[in-house]
Amino acid sequence: MERKKTRLVKVGNVSVGGNAPIIIQSMTNTMTHDVDATVNQIKKLENAGCEMVRVAIPEEKDLLAIPEIKKRIDIPLIADVHFLSDYALRAIDLGADKVRINPGNIGKESKVKQIIDKCKEKGIPLRIGVNAGSLHKKFREKPHGLAKALVESAKEYIRLCTEMDFNKIILSVKASSVLETIEAYKLLSEETDFPLHIGVTEAGLPVPGSVKSALGIGILLYQGIGDTIRVSLTGDPVLEIETAYYILRSLEIRKVGPEIISCPTCGRTHYDINDVVQEIHTKLKMIKQPIKVAVMGCEVNGPGEAREADIGLAIGPKIALLFKKGRVIKKFKHEEMVDRLIKEVAKYIQEEITG
Ligand code: SF4
Repeated sequence: MERKKTRLVKVGNVSVGGNAPIIIQSMTNTMTHDVDATVNQIKKLENAGCEMVRVAIPEEKDLLAIPEIKKRIDIPLIADVHFLSDYALRAIDLGADKVRINPGNIGKESKVKQIIDKCKEKGIPLRIGVNAGSLHKKFREKPHGLAKALVESAKEYIRLCTEMDFNKIILSVKASSVLETIEAYKLLSEETDFPLHIGVTEAGLPVPGSVKSALGIGILLYQGIGDTIRVSLTGDPVLEIETAYYILRSLEIRKVGPEIISCPTCGRTHYDINDVVQEIHTKLKMIKQPIKVAVMGCEVNGPGEAREADIGLAIGPKIALLFKKGRVIKKFKHEEMVDRLIKEVAKYIQEEITG
């Protein structure tokens, strides 16, 4: 996969675009003015590997919460302002590391110009986030289709920023349709070298939403498009981060943390492996080193089928086999197998990864 070269834009201390890694971000779903709840959720997101976070600023009390939230978190904070350009200006003054505006909602060009001037003054970036659901009225007719309309709207603001000699912009053109999203980003990527924030908007509940996001984001990344990703799911935003890492790991873009391979089970399975896989997933979750761990439902085919795994368990009716790179190294009773696997994983990381 050859990644398209884009400009580097700094968001707080995080680099987006250029040669920087593809950055994972999310958005809180707490009331932003409830500082404790918002900070608590951001800390959970940080622990899961979130690298920058967006908060909604619908009211003045949300705006006023920015300084206190900033003080208590360790990743850049992005203020999402929908309708009131004045809030964008004030969010910047209150310390937001980036502001996201939706051109369809902010309205008049003069208001956007004021925001650009303020970003220039404070040296912070701006995301121009065009969304299919809230396209500027000028582009709503879509004579050439939705994807083209999204890109035309984004281009209008790229032109405005460029004319004002402002280059710290990150762009997004999201739709809830996977195909429209892919089409829009492909067109946009041909038109600009500003970094792109990619994602399928309003993707839905965790299972369908993860599938849509994996397809939309994955296909774009495979084509070298995208500098920062957001998986949009209905539910706990921590799931967005986990899903984002699975996408990047599956494409071997960022190998972080354990990858658990588990077989679908079949008529050869004599032990319910679901709970075992869940327990191993929970116990290994915090590991940052890239390691492949397999949990297989039979001792005959398991190790061979999971030959690519670094460490694994093949669970037979009476015993479990612990294997390394597809070769059996030990046997254990079921009661011991999870603890023994965890110890072997720690040993493997020590010997083979961290040295
Ligand atoms: Fe069936 Fe064994 Fe393959 Fe699992 S590893 S699918 S139990 S043959």
